Parts: sequence; structure tokens; C-alpha cells
Amino acid sequence: MSHHDERTFVMVKPDGVQRGLIGEVVSRLEGRGLKLVGAKFMRIDQDLAEEHYGEHADKPFFEDLVGFITAAPVFAMVWEGADATRQVRRMMGATDPAEAQPGTIRGDLGLDLGQNVIHGSDHEDEGANEREIALFFDDEELVNWDQSTEGWVYESA
Ligand code: GDP
Ligand code: MG
Repeated sequence: MSHHDERTFVMVKPDGVQRGLIGEVVSRLEGRGLKLVGAKFMRIDQDLAEEHYGEHADKPFFEDLVGFITAAPVFAMVWEGADATRQVRRMMGATDPAEAQPGTIRGDLGLDLGQNVIHGSDHEDEGANEREIALFFDDEELVNWDQSTEGWVYESA
């Protein structure tokens, strides 16, 4: 079942937490058939924020972005499944919720680029998923487990 075990990093951002959307986001990912292997409700500090969003350090919105992501708790998660990184990105929709398709998380739950509910690792950035997982979780915080529904999600387990 090695092709079902790609892991990706996902988090409900401070706006999603404040708006009570943790359950909605988790529900969509669970419903898709992805498997939860780690989760943590936490506050991101300045250093972690700057490292997590390091690729945007020279962008004009960087200070606002770091301020936003540290302003309230987040719900950080690791999800596993076939092509998980890309599939979560498809479920998230476009970065700007105003442009995201209805049916996507951002397209259904957001209206503002700076407050777009969810983060997911970039599938076009090779290894971003593993780097982000390692940044937020220690190995022992991730749970290896067999989900009994797997045979009903994937044709060949
Ligand atoms: P993502 O991977 O879809 O989250 O998008 P990016 O990696 O390009 O940007 C990271 C986050 O920065 C986005 O989710 C937005 O919340 C924020 N962001 C991106 N572009 C802008 C911008 O032009 N202005 C502001 N205020 N925030 C932005
Ligand atoms: Mg990104």
C-alpha cells in the first residue's frame, strides 16, 4: 500500500479557528478518504512563522502574513493518502478565495486573500510536504495505524 502513504501538512489558519471551521475542514478531508496521522492545536510563534513562510520573506505582504498566522491558534495536521499533497491542494482551491471555485474549501468558506482559512503543502515544491511536517511535528507525534475502511477507499489496498 506504499502508493497510498504520501503525507502532507495541512493547517486550519487563525481565521478558520476563530470562525469555528476546524470541524468543517477535518470533515472534508476525512470524507475524501484521507487518513489523519497527526494533529495539534497550537500557537505559532514568530520564529516558526518566519521559517514556515520563509519563501515569502521578500514579499510586501510578509509582515502581515507573519502577524496573521501568529495572531491566534492554528490547528496543524498531517494527512496521508494517495497523491495526498496534490489532492489537498485541489480541495483547498485557489490561494485567493475570491477566485477559488465553489466546492473548494477556500471557495466555499472565504472571501479574502489574507484570510483564506487553510494552508496545505505546495505539491509543485518538491519535498515541501516532508519539510513542513518535520517543522511542525516530531516523529513520535505521528501515528502509524491501519484504518479499517481503507479497502473501501482504494480498489487495491
Ligand atoms: P498558498 O500556498 O495557496 O497558501 O499561497 P502562497 O504560498 O502563495 O502564499 C502564502 C499565503 O500568503 C497565502 O495563503 C495568503 O494567505 C498569503 N498571501 C499570498 N499572497 C498575498 C498577497 O498578495 N497579499 C496578502 N495580504 N497575503 C497574501
Ligand atoms: Mg504556498
